[in-house]
Amino acid sequence: MPWLIGYPRERIDWHPRINYEKCTACGVCLSCGNKVFRWRDGRPEVAEPLRCVIGCTTCANLCPEWAISFPEIAEVRRIYKENDIWSKISRAMREEGMV
Ligand code: SF4
Ligand code: SF4
Repeated sequence: MPWLIGYPRERIDWHPRINYEKCTACGVCLSCGNKVFRWRDGRPEVAEPLRCVIGCTTCANLCPEWAISFPEIAEVRRIYKENDIWSKISRAMREEGMV
């Protein structure tokens, strides 16, 4: 089931930002299972921002240098609320017999 229920992923600003002043090129962020990061010229870059799972902050939490940041989650929650995404997800789950 698509978790945005038709809302365009590209309209939600949620992906990691790397502060290269802090990054020591340790490589830990490359462990993201969604392959959002790519190694290039000896350091990570955010190559596939739209593959980032909305609301996930795992790479930021595991970065030893606190070099990764995200936008405010409040803006994402505002979009979910205004576009009824939460209740659409619940409805879709009921329709698919999941709950
Ligand atoms: S985990 Fe942090 S310090 Fe390590 S490469 Fe990624 S951004 Fe840089
Ligand atoms: S927040 Fe999660 S999904 Fe997004 S890049 Fe980091 S580890 Fe990957």
